[in-house]
Amino acid sequence: MASRSDKTPENGEKLPANKVAAKGVVSYQRVSTRGQEFPRQKQARDQWLAKHPEYELLATKRDLMSGRKENRFDWLIDDPAQFPVGTVLLVEDIDRFSRMEVEQGIRQLFAMFDRGLGIAVCPYFDDDNFWDRVGVITDFNGEGGEQIHRELKRARRESERKRERRVEARDRKYAAIREGRLNDAFKPRGKSKTGKTFPFWVELDPKGNDGLGKFEPNEHWPLIQRIWQLARTMGGARIAEVLMEEGFTSPYPQKGKPKLLSDEVVRNILRRRSAMGEFQPTMKGNKPNGDPIPGVFPPVVTPAEFNEIRGIIEERDTGLGHTKTKKQSNLFANRSFCAICGGLQGVAPTTAKRLADGSIKEQPGKFRCRVGHRTKGRDCNVNGQQIGVIYEEVPLLQRLSEYRWEERYSSTAHDEEINQQRQHVLALDSTRAQKQRELENVEQSIEKTALEGGVVSPTQMNLEEKLRAALIDAENAVAIAQNRLNALQSKTVGKAAAREARARVKAFMESGRDDLAEREKFNAWFHTTGLVVLVDPRTKRIEIGPGKIEENRLVEFWDSEWILEHLTGEDRERYLADAEKLKNTGERMS
Ligand SMILES: [Zn+2]
Repeated sequence: MASRSDKTPENGEKLPANKVAAKGVVSYQRVSTRGQEFPRQKQARDQWLAKHPEYELLATKRDLMSGRKENRFDWLIDDPAQFPVGTVLLVEDIDRFSRMEVEQGIRQLFAMFDRGLGIAVCPYFDDDNFWDRVGVITDFNGEGGEQIHRELKRARRESERKRERRVEARDRKYAAIREGRLNDAFKPRGKSKTGKTFPFWVELDPKGNDGLGKFEPNEHWPLIQRIWQLARTMGGARIAEVLMEEGFTSPYPQKGKPKLLSDEVVRNILRRRSAMGEFQPTMKGNKPNGDPIPGVFPPVVTPAEFNEIRGIIEERDTGLGHTKTKKQSNLFANRSFCAICGGLQGVAPTTAKRLADGSIKEQPGKFRCRVGHRTKGRDCNVNGQQIGVIYEEVPLLQRLSEYRWEERYSSTAHDEEINQQRQHVLALDSTRAQKQRELENVEQSIEKTALEGGVVSPTQMNLEEKLRAALIDAENAVAIAQNRLNALQSKTVGKAAAREARARVKAFMESGRDDLAEREKFNAWFHTTGLVVLVDPRTKRIEIGPGKIEENRLVEFWDSEWILEHLTGEDRERYLADAEKLKNTGERMS
């Protein structure tokens, strides 16, 4: 490769304006930290460009990938349209080019050379002008190619050494833990990020164990003890509930604010072997790396207890189909509402209880008010208590199939719905007409001012603009409402629609209940009926009927007098009072 330095202008002059650059160059800058500035790389690049005016900068590519990543130059090799034959890849150093395996790096270079691409090195600091001398390299023959080969090997060695140092540091840490020199492996919480590598229920006492360091229980100790106690008989969701009732809050407060423990957090806590005092060495990706080291933390449970309780948990999780998060345990999910607060009701799925004789008793799932749950009962309760209502799927489905679908899909109900929508369209249209009049008034006054030779004020202009925008909004609202009216008018109604709905429920009851996909489909269909499930924790009664939802809250529920005839005495009065409350439209129910 001939040197280009003889063609290089002195003092790094700029390219003369009339000279056309013949070849393209792509500057490649690799950094390991996001947001890092590249002033040095940029300077080295500009120096090189100044010395090689026959090259034109096509692009500067900044790469955040690790240097070890393979096939990192495919974007260059595979894009001949953007980077034609003769294009040169400009790197600051060969280790910027590659820390891939030497063969991998060479393979990529071969692919580049085969494509007619070259590489040039522009060191920020070049002792003996070596890279300047060899210029653009287009094959492995000659001084430049050989040097690249050597440097690739060096870059790889360095990377290997760095990795070794990291592994060594990690091994030293694990050795210190094994030998009980905890101060050499951990720092007290808050002093460094190693605080995250020990459990939240302990703290490092650097003076403990004759100055070697010792873990002691901290303020969260009662919480972890309680979680393990409860785990014998309850699943994560129920434990979270009990902890909340007992006033425990999460060890991970959000922005300093106390937070309740979620069932997911509880379940994760119950997986940690650190509960029996073990430290589990890990490698990248948190995968276990060798045997756990016993006796590092004060034990919450003995190994025998740990294994026993884990066994119970696994039995509960698998054997009885409990708390699989994606189970769709509520067929009426996001259509079940609380009759007290109008908020969503969720279903805590079926749990199992181990009885004294060792047998397992299944406990039915329950509807629970999410608003009450989230606020510890503050925003929704029954005489201060949070009450669950048993979720019985078969009777619910039975009721749905017996629902007065004819009435729901009757032409009168349908006509009423159409009528309401028509009123809505009319109301929106009168708003639109109002906006139009206002705009016309302003436009006229502007015109008048102009005709009389006056100056139109910025206030008038602003007002005109505002009114024009408001008119467009109003026109859109009318169009949307009109579309909905058209859709309503073309909907199937009458007996056929009712028969269809009933058949849908029956078919699902016969074959779909155990099939997750069918359950999801059923839920989607239930959404389209406009019906909701109303759960009343006061009476433990559940009703199905049409409802209106605004921002995840039920704001309207149409009464169903049909149950009235089955109620007597106090129940009947309470029902009537509740039904009255539920008719309050527009506002939250209370
Ligand atoms: Zn509620």
